[in-house]
Order: sequence, then structure tokens, then C-alpha cells
Amino acid sequence: MSFQIPRGTVDLMPGEVEKWQYIEEKARELCRRYNFSEIRTPLFEQTELFQRGVGETTDIVSKEMYTFMDRGGRSLTLRPEGTAGVVRSFVEKKIYGEPQPTKWYYIGQMYRYERPQAGRQRQFHQFGIEAFGAVDPVLDAELVDLGWQFIRSVGVSGVKVALNSVGCSRCRPRYREKLVEYLTPYKEELCKDCHTRLEQNPMRVLDCKKEGCQRVTEDAPRMVNFLCEECAPHFETVKESLDLLGVEWYLDTRLVRGLDYYTQTAFEYILEGQGGHAGSLGGGGRYNGLVQEVGGPEMPGVGFALGLERVLLALESRGVDLPLASGVDCFIVSLGDAAKKRSVLLLKELRQMGSTAERDYLDRKMKGQLKAADRASARYVAIVGENELEKNQVVVKEMATGEQNTIQLDKLATYIREACGKGQS
Ligand code: AMP
Repeated sequence: MSFQIPRGTVDLMPGEVEKWQYIEEKARELCRRYNFSEIRTPLFEQTELFQRGVGETTDIVSKEMYTFMDRGGRSLTLRPEGTAGVVRSFVEKKIYGEPQPTKWYYIGQMYRYERPQAGRQRQFHQFGIEAFGAVDPVLDAELVDLGWQFIRSVGVSGVKVALNSVGCSRCRPRYREKLVEYLTPYKEELCKDCHTRLEQNPMRVLDCKKEGCQRVTEDAPRMVNFLCEECAPHFETVKESLDLLGVEWYLDTRLVRGLDYYTQTAFEYILEGQGGHAGSLGGGGRYNGLVQEVGGPEMPGVGFALGLERVLLALESRGVDLPLASGVDCFIVSLGDAAKKRSVLLLKELRQMGSTAERDYLDRKMKGQLKAADRASARYVAIVGENELEKNQVVVKEMATGEQNTIQLDKLATYIREACGKGQS
């Protein structure tokens, strides 16, 4: 019997995984600077949390969830996104009772039963941010900027932020009425999904990617023209702050988050010159009603989620080489039993001093060991033979230049550390 990896998943192999570590570290570093703390919630939650927290009418909940019964008869679901679990934790631990704001981030796997294709997997990764407890529109802009900085700092250029406001529970009903009034006469021209949307969630007709639907909605009323006296100035300040921060953004009045608890700011990071779903690296917005939806008090929130596979694909398509550290600092070649024994200690010293160090584990001859050093991309090779051992010496060779030096055995670790520019560990 031969086993295969589940459809829509990938193994992140050595060679590839270093890129992941690099971009994850960039995200963590940025979060530290913006004073966001990491939260790690379970990979699965009660199914109902996502039904409430993501919304029954969304594609995610209606078509894409990995739901199963556990042995205790509970319905559980592999998380299709990160916000619901984070909000659940915020409410369950009563963090809302503490001084606000609460600023959290997460990085991890998400699961959606989708048709796999480039940039779309069944297990994928998101880096997300959530900030609770503040209505300040400048915070929205700072979050947008954080995501934008992240994308740029890993080396993806040509990304712009699409921005919209979806109003709130006060101004949206009037807009929704107008929109339905406008769309109803064109119902037959809309796709089947949009027939349902028209009834359940009319604003989502606006972001349907089908040509016919786009044609119909071209001249449809837009939410930005219906914003109330709270949402309109909020949106103005978000835009001004984005300009102040130097974020490249544009108004996209089709951008909607169709659920009642999404409010005001909505945004998406769009890759220029890339059509279709791969063009969106991620998005976010305000959700002033979500904490309440998940059983907490009235408490504002704002956040985003970025797809890390998409970020890496963007890097690849732009031919960006990440500055990854590769290879070992020192490979020890030893000849004879006594030298081998001594090399084990030398390795330990090297590693304790903060250098990366390796040796041969297959009792290869000199030539084979040198080849192994080459495969390990060693910067230096240290050769310990019987003769050197007797004199307490080691020959150190810099691979790039071929330059050779003989030094005292007990100086090797310091020598390599200094030669490779590593500080005191
Ligand atoms: P969403 O939670 O649907 O707003 O998605 C946010 C981001 O997550 C998207 O813009 C993508 O970058 C990423 N994403 C969503 N679904 C997938 C998937 N099936 N495979 C890979 N990335 C995804």
C-alpha cells in the first residue's frame, strides 16, 4: 500500500521551509514593533462558532468547512479562518473586562474544502491581526499600514490597498433597501448565486466576479453615499490617515463584507497585474458587532488576515530571492579513530560558541568527507588527522578562497566564530 498526501495539502520541505521561517519572522518582528502579542488558539472549534462568527450565508460556512463529529458526539470544525477562535477566546477569558485595547496576532494553518489550484489549497496559512476595544479610525489605518509594511518588507512590490466603508447597522438598512430596489428589476441577468444573495445578503452581489453581475451592478447605488454621521467622518479619517502614513490605496466601492457585524472599514491587499483570486493577498476590516455575536458585550474590533501561500507565490512570480542563511559555518573532516573522537568535542565547542557545525557520520574517506562538506555548503572545513592531533593542531580551509591556516585545536571555535562574524553567544 502506498500513501499519498491529502489533496490540497503540501509538505513544506527543507529548502522551502526556510522561506516560511523568514516571512514568519518578519511578521513577528513587525508585530513586536507595533506591540501586538501572539495568541495561539486550537485548530478546531465548535462548529457553531464559525456558523455565528463567520456567517451561515458565506461560502466558507455553507460549502467549505471540514466538519466532523468527535467520539463524544460533538460537532467540531477545523478552523477555516482565525478571527472566530480569537474572538471566542477574548470573550471566554473575559479579556473585554481588562483595560483596552487588546492587540493580538496569529500565524497558522487554516482549512477549507476548496478546489485546489495555484494559490488555493485545503490547508493553507494565514498571518492575522486583531485589535479589540477601540473605535479610533486611525487604528484602522495603522493596521492597514502594518499589513502593507509586512508585504513590502518581505519583498513583494506593486501591492495596493483597495478600501471601502460598509457602514453600520444604522446606515446600512436604508442602503440595502435602495440596493434591492435597484437590483430587483435586473434579477434575471444575475447569476444563480446572486439570486440567493439578493434575498439573504444583497451587498454581496456587488463583489460577484461574474461578468453579467458586474454589468448589472456597475451603476448600482454605493454604500459610501449612504454613510451616517458616525460612519462618514470615520471613513474620512481612515483615508486621511492612510495618506499620512504613505499607504497606496484606492477606493473600491464594490468591496464588501456582507455580514451584519462587519462595520465601516473594509480593505484588501491587491497585487497589481494579477487577475483572479491570486490577486488578493488578504484583507480585513472592522467588525464592531462580532464580539457580541460570539456572546460578549458590545466591543469594537478591527483586523486583517493575509494568506502566506499567496505572499510566497507573489515573491516567486516577481523572482525575488530571499536573503536566507544557508550552509554550515564549519565542517569537520577527521581521519582516524582518535581524531574522530576529538572532532566530536570540537563540534560541541563550535556549536556552544554559536556556530553551525557538522561532520561526516558515514565513516567516509577524506575525499568523501570533503564532498559532504561541499553538499553542506560549508564556509570552512577543519581537517583533523593523526599528525595534526599529535601536535594539537587543526588545518582550517576557507572553501570560497582555498586559503588554508593551521591553528591550535582549542582555538578552532573562537577562530570560526570570528571568521563567520558571529558575536559572543
Ligand atoms: P479570507 O479569510 O477568505 O478573507 O481570505 C484571506 C486570505 O487568505 C486570502 O486573500 C488568501 O490570501 C488566503 N486564502 C484564503 N483561502 C485560501 C486557500 N484556500 N488557499 C490559500 N490561501 C487562501
